[in-house]
Amino acid sequence: MNTPAYDDENIFAKILRGEIPSVKLYEDDDTLAFMDVMPQAPGHLLVIPKQPSRNLLDADPEVLAKTIPVVQKLAKAAKTAFDADGIFVAQFNEPAAGQTVFHLHFHVIPRREGTVLKPHSGGMEDMEVLKENAEKIRAAL
Ligand code: 5GP
Repeated sequence: MNTPAYDDENIFAKILRGEIPSVKLYEDDDTLAFMDVMPQAPGHLLVIPKQPSRNLLDADPEVLAKTIPVVQKLAKAAKTAFDADGIFVAQFNEPAAGQTVFHLHFHVIPRREGTVLKPHSGGMEDMEVLKENAEKIRAAL
């Protein structure tokens, strides 16, 4: 089956258009990084290309080539900011694989030895905590 069409009413398209707020970390002409509002661990962030695509399956390879260096940049910053033992990068394609927001995004999640991840799309984090964590990541960029 083909990938369904992109719907520009998804929440990340609204964030890109400035219609809903986000805690931003990094932005360039092609890419935006911001805090996940339901973090699975402190410092959980998302990297998205500005060009619309539903997920990896319909993305332009040239866009992917611009996005991955930003994923790396944010992964390094998050590792430093949270003194993480490792960084989990995740990316889901279609509901059967766990995708809930249909604009391509990469999860970047700091991991500590012996610490269990919270559930995917679990509870909302306090906005002040998100802002404090974002400040740590920005300082490490
Ligand atoms: P997916 O399941 O599609 O890979 O992940 C979507 C992610 O977006 C989830 O981790 C969820 O917590 C996050 N998310 C959902 N709504 C919002 C929102 O309005 N703002 C932000 N910053 N993140 C969101």
